[in-house]
Amino acid sequence: MGIQRVLDRIQAACLRARRSPSEVRLVAVTKGHTLEEIRERVLAFGNFPLGESRIQEALPKMELLQGIEWHFIGPLQRNKARFAVSFDLIHSVDSLPLAQMLARKALQVGKIQPVLVEVNLSLELQKHGFLQQELAEAVAQMREMEGLEVRGLMTIAPYTSQPQTVRPVFAQLSSLTDDLGLKERSMGMSGDFEVAVEEGATLVRVGTALFEPD
Ligand SMILES: *Cc1c(COP(=O)(O)O)cnc(C)c1O
Repeated sequence: MGIQRVLDRIQAACLRARRSPSEVRLVAVTKGHTLEEIRERVLAFGNFPLGESRIQEALPKMELLQGIEWHFIGPLQRNKARFAVSFDLIHSVDSLPLAQMLARKALQVGKIQPVLVEVNLSLELQKHGFLQQELAEAVAQMREMEGLEVRGLMTIAPYTSQPQTVRPVFAQLSSLTDDLGLKERSMGMSGDFEVAVEEGATLVRVGTALFEPD
């Protein structure tokens, strides 16, 4: 599809939903791609935030590509927290012990770490994230942690070839985000980002579609 078509489709989805395109940011997911591909397929079109899902893969890329906003989107182990706090935004905080460790490591480097809280809205299909019934209490506790700034929620919808079927998942994430008085809603991937935008996504995490031929 390529990044230009993805951006056009985000804009069209915004128009359909009567949203301003300025409310939606594309996070270009670059896992598995070389620096050359990233420059050619993404950065040639603008200074997009880049999303990576494995610390070991991301760190060398971060060193070599400066002046970029980096987002961590993958499952995160506590023993990697000290590396994770070098990201500008962590989308995937899925437990209180992890949150605590991130808060501690952030303070050690003199930083308040912006994070999103991952929510599991599709029970049997998703392994990570807080259940809906645990969410309010978990967010309340994270808001008390010095060293963390909770900016919003993130979810991964079940994979489907029919993106319309996951619309309720995205609507639910939007309503939970509002209920908690948060701003960012990280939802939507290559297969379903248009529906996510229609349902209120502020950050869409798109990888595969950016690197396909136009
Ligand atoms: C890989 C990944 C994406 C991007 O998925 P695509 O289908 O390649 O667009 C988004 N979010 C997370 C958490 C991922 O790991």
